[in-house]
Amino acid sequence: MTEYKTIEDLGDLSGKVAMLRADLNVPMDENFNVTNTARIDRTVPTIKNLMEKGAKVVVISHFGRPEGKGDMKNSLSHIVKDLEKALGKKVVFVEDCIGEVVENTVKNMSNDEILLLENLRFYNEEKKGDETFAKELVKVCDVYVSDAFSTAHRAHASMVAAAKQRPSSMGLLMAEEVNALSTGLNNPVRPLIAVVGGSKVSTKLDLLNNLVKKVDKLVISGGMAHTFMKANGIDTINEENSLVQMDMLDTAKEIMATAKANNCEIILPKDVVVSKEFKPMAEHKTVELSDIPQTGWSLLDVGAKTIEAINAKLDECKTLVWNGPLGVFEMKPFDKATNAVAEHAAKLTEEGKLTSVAGGGDTVSALENAGVANKFTYISTAGGAFLEWMEGKELPGVQVMKK
Ligand code: AMP
Repeated sequence: MTEYKTIEDLGDLSGKVAMLRADLNVPMDENFNVTNTARIDRTVPTIKNLMEKGAKVVVISHFGRPEGKGDMKNSLSHIVKDLEKALGKKVVFVEDCIGEVVENTVKNMSNDEILLLENLRFYNEEKKGDETFAKELVKVCDVYVSDAFSTAHRAHASMVAAAKQRPSSMGLLMAEEVNALSTGLNNPVRPLIAVVGGSKVSTKLDLLNNLVKKVDKLVISGGMAHTFMKANGIDTINEENSLVQMDMLDTAKEIMATAKANNCEIILPKDVVVSKEFKPMAEHKTVELSDIPQTGWSLLDVGAKTIEAINAKLDECKTLVWNGPLGVFEMKPFDKATNAVAEHAAKLTEEGKLTSVAGGGDTVSALENAGVANKFTYISTAGGAFLEWMEGKELPGVQVMKK
């Protein structure tokens, strides 16, 4: 962590204006009520910390996909009351994120209130990473802090160019996230195991190629495992009964060869659950790979032998990184394998035997469905940024925080 700048590195903040780039892109219903305040709640410690250090805090964020300025559906004004509630402080909303009105409001703000500026994406310059826009943005602040890890894979103006204009640092949330992810892949206690599930190999190529070079064991499950199984000569798998991608067979073989060259053990399904229909509680049975019906049934989960094998591998490891469900977890009982492995990982974590990091896309819902989301060491709610980190890519919004 000494690699990255933290709030402590900003020195004395009394009397200074700190601009905080948060991710307040919260889900909202049609009446503009916030339906999940997690993103607001998670950045509150940073705001409080900056205030305790004597700074005046100006919060900025993107929100939704606005079609230009004045798109009230995507106005951050809708979250003011939730932010006030989470903070226990008055929040003053400014209907722009740059310009005179912002400058005047900042000049007159008191130490006991915070300012929330309007949606950054009301300006196209934000997504373009425009430096002039970034300079306008930071005009009112002395220091720049970022908690928006979930946007860190984008080199948007507020993520990179703005941070370069002022003494800058990660906020507590981003520091926590970067730290957790570093213990997962960058500096893990070994043996390190990755569990990758989900639908298709084609969407996770970069991720698999990076993992086979870094992890000691790689579990491949979910729909994407079918391509690997077919590539391994399991002839019962076909395009009718599974998500096998016939044009990816060679790619799957290459990934397995790279794994072998890097001493990475690949764990594939040993048995599967096949279902008559793609619907909850459909007629289903567990079969050996040689007994998979060629027609009339679909592979929707992995079976008990596979669960046992994966859990036994977890027992041998000290660190787990997980992305993607092991089966169609949205429909019972095809969430069984995901739940069973998640529960085992949670138990090992609680016993202090495993550091477990998970995230990306559906993984958070899959682990919530399994009832273990708060039992993992760290669950990242950052979808795209988490995946790019698993792919081994540099995240520009984190990169800029390097000392
Ligand atoms: P991804 O976004 O690639 O992580 O994929 C997540 C999706 O993969 C979930 O919606 C799961 O229902 C789906 N999935 C997992 N296993 C299977 C499977 N065996 N067959 C079809 N879909 C699957």
